[in-house]
Amino acid sequence: MIIGVIGAGIAGLTAARKLALAGHEVTIFEKSNGLGGRMATRYAGEQLDIKTDHGAPCFTARSEEFRQFVDELLKNGIADVWADHFPYFTGEMILEKHPDIPVEPHYFAPGGMNKIGKYLSRWVDVRFNAKVNGFTYLGDKAHKKRNWMINFSDFSVMEVDAVIVATPAPQAYGLIENAQDETPFKWIIRNIDTISYQPCYTLMVNLGNQPAPEWKAIQCNHKSLRWIGNEATKRRNNGNTVIVVQSSAAFASAYINSNVSEVTRSLLMAVKEITGLDASKPVWSQLHFWKYRNPRNVMPGYFVEPVEHAAPAALIGDYFGEADGVESAYLSGLKLAEQWLDKYPVIKEPVTI
Ligand SMILES: Cc1cc2nc3c(=O)[nH]c(=O)nc-3n(C[C@H](O)[C@H](O)[C@H](O)COP(=O)(O)OP(=O)(O)OC[C@H]3O[C@@H](n4cnc5c(N)ncnc54)[C@H](O)[C@@H]3O)c2cc1C
Repeated sequence: MIIGVIGAGIAGLTAARKLALAGHEVTIFEKSNGLGGRMATRYAGEQLDIKTDHGAPCFTARSEEFRQFVDELLKNGIADVWADHFPYFTGEMILEKHPDIPVEPHYFAPGGMNKIGKYLSRWVDVRFNAKVNGFTYLGDKAHKKRNWMINFSDFSVMEVDAVIVATPAPQAYGLIENAQDETPFKWIIRNIDTISYQPCYTLMVNLGNQPAPEWKAIQCNHKSLRWIGNEATKRRNNGNTVIVVQSSAAFASAYINSNVSEVTRSLLMAVKEITGLDASKPVWSQLHFWKYRNPRNVMPGYFVEPVEHAAPAALIGDYFGEADGVESAYLSGLKLAEQWLDKYPVIKEPVTI
């Protein structure tokens, strides 16, 4: 089966890898020029040799299936344990840890979080800068061999037997809305339009040779901040002390139209208030706005498929299931691939890793 996957985040890559290893012909279409989606790493500095995780800084693994994958990453040197808890700013003081968050391994990627996407992509064909605008159901057109036509923003098209939409819910919604014909996907709109995401500003600050703070990260209950991470405890970065600050959703919404220097100044003031760290004269700083940091309400199950329809299609991502961000996205991709391998037997010899 020829399968088109829209989005090279961990959900899309996981589904694609499993289906490709089993012998399906899988291509991922990714609108950006990088892998991993929100498991993102910025390359900065003059030599672009300073790596900063400006998306997910780390993740936990609670299910057996995800732990197995994390073990694979650990064995291959892609991931490592960063900490089993982080200090917590209550709004008034810093405690050793959040009272309600369990002590458990938090994993990171020493080479940068995007290395996890890169690792998963070894087994699949990924086309970068391939922004999908929508897709059209061809199944009832007798002269067409394939079920779906994927439409790209450069007006090119590709016909496939199956489509997997592996983007955040609002982007999936947009793709379905843009479908040129009536597609059986449209009923799904009713289910996913209730899912909203929290926005977030991420500020990356290089403090040069200023001594690195002792903490690895601080979880924050603060009106402007939710997280301050110390990248110097993840990798050397040529001796540069880099911190990454994540804003609260309320701050991101309130400052959505503010200019970079205003947002930067406000976030750095909050860092000083919480940690005492003066980051007002950095070597450089970069700001990134995430429209979709994490889903506010999720859908039950691991994925959705249009019901009563023969043409394979599905939506996957972190807006399914009960797990946390990275783990929920992984499980979503894995469970869909497992079901499809049962439903659509492979015609080629499977590949072994
Ligand atoms: C700042 C931040 C901090 C976070 N912290 C944590 C944390 O500590 N722990 C944790 O578990 N999770 C965390 N998360 C959440 C976690 O990163 C996500 O839940 C997870 O990575 C989502 O994976 P995904 O594959 O579902 O989606 P994504 O990673 O968003 O992948 C979707 C991909 O689809 C592509 N795409 C979208 N539209 C199109 C289109 N039209 N055509 C082609 N491609 C398209 C996008 O470019 C993207 O690459 C954080 C996220 C952010 C932003």
